[in-house]
Amino acid sequence: MKRKYDRVAIGIDLGTTYSCVAVWQDQHYRVEIIHNDQGNRTTPSFVAFTENQRLIGDNAKNQAASNPQNTVFDAKRLIGRKFSDPVVQDDILLWPFKVTAGDNDRPMITVKYKDQEKQLHAEEVSSMVLTKMREIAESYLETTVTNAVVTVPAYFNDSQRKATIDAGAIAGLNVMRAMNEPTAAAVAYGLDKRTDYDGERNIFVFDLGGGTFDVSLLTIKGNNFQVKATAGNTHLGGEDFDNRMANYFVQEFKRKNKVDISGNPKALRRLRTACERAKRSLSFLVVATIEVDSLFQGIDFSSSINRAKFEEMNMDLFNECMTIVGSCLIDANMDKSMIDDVVLVGGSSRIPIVHQLLKDFFNGKDLCKSINPDEAVAYGAAVQAALLSGGVKNAPKLVLQDVTPLSLGRGVIGDIMDVVIPRNTCIPVNKTRPYVTTKDNQISANINVYEGERARASDNNLLGCFNLFGIPPAPCGSPSSNVCFAIDENGILTVSAKNNASGSSNKITITNHKERLSSEDIKKLIQEAEKYRIEDKKFLRKAKAVNVLDDYIYKMGTALKKNDINLKLSSEEIEKIESTIAKATNLIDENNQQVEIDVLEDHVEGLKSWMEYIIAKTI
Ligand code: AMP
Repeated sequence: MKRKYDRVAIGIDLGTTYSCVAVWQDQHYRVEIIHNDQGNRTTPSFVAFTENQRLIGDNAKNQAASNPQNTVFDAKRLIGRKFSDPVVQDDILLWPFKVTAGDNDRPMITVKYKDQEKQLHAEEVSSMVLTKMREIAESYLETTVTNAVVTVPAYFNDSQRKATIDAGAIAGLNVMRAMNEPTAAAVAYGLDKRTDYDGERNIFVFDLGGGTFDVSLLTIKGNNFQVKATAGNTHLGGEDFDNRMANYFVQEFKRKNKVDISGNPKALRRLRTACERAKRSLSFLVVATIEVDSLFQGIDFSSSINRAKFEEMNMDLFNECMTIVGSCLIDANMDKSMIDDVVLVGGSSRIPIVHQLLKDFFNGKDLCKSINPDEAVAYGAAVQAALLSGGVKNAPKLVLQDVTPLSLGRGVIGDIMDVVIPRNTCIPVNKTRPYVTTKDNQISANINVYEGERARASDNNLLGCFNLFGIPPAPCGSPSSNVCFAIDENGILTVSAKNNASGSSNKITITNHKERLSSEDIKKLIQEAEKYRIEDKKFLRKAKAVNVLDDYIYKMGTALKKNDINLKLSSEEIEKIESTIAKATNLIDENNQQVEIDVLEDHVEGLKSWMEYIIAKTI
């Protein structure tokens, strides 16, 4: 078959709850959002493990209620974080799957797969979702895909970005760029509107998804997209609203039935799924009903919730969103009256109270709802992927300038954070700062690199540290080093230090700090991923063989019941056919886990040739 594309790069929106993949179609001058094998344009970021197979996407989510302990979601909430992070500790209480502390305080997810316990890194789970998205694209494009732009929340820190890039590597993808989600959405919006106006426009992107919240303020002028400021919370989104509602109904169930379901993962999963559905309904209805048959101990649950109650139970979270909106404007040094368009992105941006609060904040301004909030991020990522890949002629020649979301600096004497690159500085960027010795005859300097906004260095996130040796002995206050902070297009930092007098230097790309997987780990996980891929393929081949066998058994059984065929077959032939059918039926009835694929396929061939023989006889 002729391939539609020879060289291709895709855009993937790797969401907390749903993911989406898109591609730039050069011959049609447009982006295509690619639907998955179920015909859906977004795919749940879920991975499940069962006694005999691994499931990813819709199939994983659909069986979540019956297999809660082995259905993993929210990997994006874990990625690049430490197990001891209070945010992780809070989430663990809500997840039905088990998370424990691994080496270097890394969170490890434990599941049961083929009756064996397996430990997974968050990167591994995300890599499985990325693999699924890659396969969706490959099956649509009829070619292999290795290059991708993967989006990340603008407010993701250094280790969360790198962990996402690592997840791509495990999935066999070359992550060309970790692109900020609101920037990607602004590209989708800006492209759509570019021809409508020629001047400069200030666009405010409000991106409230399943697990993260980001805002960005961009200025668009022709093909130039410049981010002025970004802010957000990497742990705020639709799932938090679902959880609040689920907690409310857990209490109601307790009051009505005198039983507590909070310790039962199956019941909680089913209740949360019902709550998510009710929450979506409340975006267009004022009352939503919740019905869960046999929720716990055979007790049915039926209740309702109105929009006002839903808003009340989440109002602090909605207000937090608005505080972040305000701080982004302050950072960009802009007044709200200067904003031309407020663009809504992310599934949770459909919530009516969010519209109301935003509209009020922007003095009654109409909000732009012209782009699809679920697809805009993947759309922008696909445009960026086309721009970065060779061989694409017709992609719009955009110039994208992003910013770093968090301040970066060095810890200096007195545990003070000396900011070298303030947050919202345009990237890529290089900044060098001279330092002096703090002691007489100091011959080395310890350089601690932090990210964050706190004045005390140790209150920020330590990214890494290294020593610079070879400083010539001199009185205190003499030049010790020039320290250079460099951030690349992915927002990834390299810090170097040099003593000019001696020429000695040292540097670190903040790669191998503790939370990150080592290159050895990644290699191992790539091998594991290949193992999973082969097992999945084997499972599907086997399932197909069983189905075909089942089909032949049925058809031949029916054919044998017809007298006219029996009359044309010898009794010896009938006996042989019946024995073949009986053997095949036995194989299917047996625990077919133990049956080799080849045996099943041999039986398929045997039945097939008998079937052909019978058909030939009846013609
Ligand atoms: P995203 O990460 O952008 O795919 O957003 C997914 C989140 O959006 C999930 O938490 C969904 O429950 C939520 N969502 C999707 N549609 C709606 C809707 N109509 N009203 C409220 N929330 C929604």
